[in-house]
Amino acid sequence: MSPVRALQTENKTTGKRTTIVRVEWGDVKAIRQGKGYKVKLAENRLPKNVRKYLDQDRQAYRTAKNMSQQTLLFGKAVPQLPSAQIIEKKLLQAAIDSASNIIEQHPYLNYKEFDIKILPKSWARRRPNGIISLDLRVAALPKTHLKYVIAHELAHTIAQNHGPLFRRIVSAICPNWQELHNDLWVYWYYVRLNRVWQRLA
Ligand SMILES: [Zn+2]
Repeated sequence: MSPVRALQTENKTTGKRTTIVRVEWGDVKAIRQGKGYKVKLAENRLPKNVRKYLDQDRQAYRTAKNMSQQTLLFGKAVPQLPSAQIIEKKLLQAAIDSASNIIEQHPYLNYKEFDIKILPKSWARRRPNGIISLDLRVAALPKTHLKYVIAHELAHTIAQNHGPLFRRIVSAICPNWQELHNDLWVYWYYVRLNRVWQRLA
């Protein structure tokens, strides 16, 4: 699961479709119009809903910036982080516990194992062989958010895309997933702004 959100807009007069494919640090990195790529359109030329989206992104960044003085481990402020090996061990245990809990309630979901590493572009990824890769920095998230990340990857057991079936499974596991999802955007920036987490990446 990646917080990079794709957003489609359509110009009503020209019928031209615009897809934002990458948004980072409150900036539009690339915008796809039709088949070509346009980099960094002037923001005042963007449709209203895209500007609103960018505002939300900036808000997430500001919130993360305010949080970034604190070092968080599983959502709690700690004086210092343990070593990467210990964090990895704790995260693995938390992930296994969370997945077991979910699967107990939803036995049609499964996975093979967790593989913890640094994923530059996502929190987690499920490979076709059922191994779920988790970004080490997921350990900064509160356990409720960790559960949401895992619910997302487990839901891919039976739903390949993020369509209605997928959303039904995820909402059954995390009824407040929308809120958790928005928070993940804040945490995405947080782990990149906090100096201690930066060193682990
Ligand atoms: Zn997904």
